Amino acid sequence: MNFRDGNDEASFRSGLRSWLADNKPEPPYPSNHGKEGNVFARAWHRKMYSGGWLGLSWPVEYGGRGLSPLYDAIVNDEVGASGAPPVPSVGFLGRPILRFGTPEQCGEYLPPMLRGELQWCQGFSEPGAGSDLASLSTRAVLDGDRYIVNGQKVWTSRAQYSDWCLLLCRTRPDLPKHKGISCLVFKMDSPGITVRPLRQVWGTAEFNEVFFDDLEVPVSQRIGEDGDGWILATTVLAHERGPADIGMISKFEVMLSRLEAILAKLPEQERAELAPRVAEAYTAVAACRRHVLKSLSLRAQGLPPGPETSVDKLLMTRASQCLGALVFETSASELVLGENDDALFEYLHSRAASIYGGTEQIQRTIVAQRVLGMPRGG
Ligand SMILES: Cc1cc2nc3c(=O)[nH]c(=O)nc-3n(C[C@H](O)[C@H](O)[C@H](O)COP(=O)(O)OP(=O)(O)OC[C@H]3O[C@@H](n4cnc5c(N)ncnc54)[C@H](O)[C@@H]3O)c2cc1C
Repeated sequence: MNFRDGNDEASFRSGLRSWLADNKPEPPYPSNHGKEGNVFARAWHRKMYSGGWLGLSWPVEYGGRGLSPLYDAIVNDEVGASGAPPVPSVGFLGRPILRFGTPEQCGEYLPPMLRGELQWCQGFSEPGAGSDLASLSTRAVLDGDRYIVNGQKVWTSRAQYSDWCLLLCRTRPDLPKHKGISCLVFKMDSPGITVRPLRQVWGTAEFNEVFFDDLEVPVSQRIGEDGDGWILATTVLAHERGPADIGMISKFEVMLSRLEAILAKLPEQERAELAPRVAEAYTAVAACRRHVLKSLSLRAQGLPPGPETSVDKLLMTRASQCLGALVFETSASELVLGENDDALFEYLHSRAASIYGGTEQIQRTIVAQRVLGMPRGG
């Protein structure tokens, strides 16, 4: 592995730094995930796309630039280090459409998703199917050239602001549970959809309950073949858990260096108490960066993300929870975070990191069985 930029990458990085210096929004930014935060994030998405900094590794015909995934990582890295708002995450829903969708579907859905014109949500989890996602019971019954969908999703992030949804539903209840799932996409303003926001501990609603009552979806809006839903879901989750988050690492590194500076000024006794925890956070962030770089070098060789992305997710969770707790408990938290973030929100949101995208326990099981090859429990 060579972690240094080549000439092209270095000049790309320096162009991006100048662009960020000129275009980074004026702080403070809305730090929560409410309506104001969503409007702000969408405007930033469009600005980054028009600047030419999004979809670098996406095919040119669908609005991307056809470059290596390393360029996406440089964008994440620089944006995180600059303190700008996070890079919009479109890849985890876009990549599966790219892999399983027809050229017509890719042409219709991907360019507006990338440009930030249409926002998408992910309708996977249900009240009875989270970790055991394959048990999902939202039904889609084929009726001529359309499916009739009935059921309920939950924890659907930003469904209340989204234009489109990528849904997992059961189309073949007669088949074993992993084989009877399909993926449909549809507009969120279609008749038969009710969205109920769920207010979260930080006061705004990021996620929602979504109910389907005889929602009609044309067969032409099924992504992949009937029964491809499970493999498509694993593609979504591998991208969601993968190295896209490198931007969070550079943000964490900035926070760590501020913490170190604060630590140096503390009286001896306080410093001795805090130092082991700063060291723990430092180790967590450093381990995370190394592993993410390893995953990236696999992407750069053209290999799709697999179960090893669960290691990225576990390390990212540990880093964000170590830092989140440390910053929250530090009296100088505003100095560590800068003017854009709020320590309580950072702390509370870091607690959710061990749940979204698959829980800590599920990631450990994936690592044990599919990365380390350990036997399944009885
Ligand atoms: C902030 C946030 C945003 C989210 N956004 C979305 C979204 O946009 N779309 C979406 O579809 N979902 C979303 N989710 C839902 C998320 O994917 C689920 O919460 C997660 O998969 C866990 O499912 P669950 O909540 O049903 O918990 P459960 O599956 O009921 O798990 C409860 C506990 O039991 C443990 N457990 C369960 N099964 C096992 C097992 N086999 N072995 C060991 N331990 C086990 C779990 O680790 C957990 O600790 C979001 C969640 C959060 C927190």
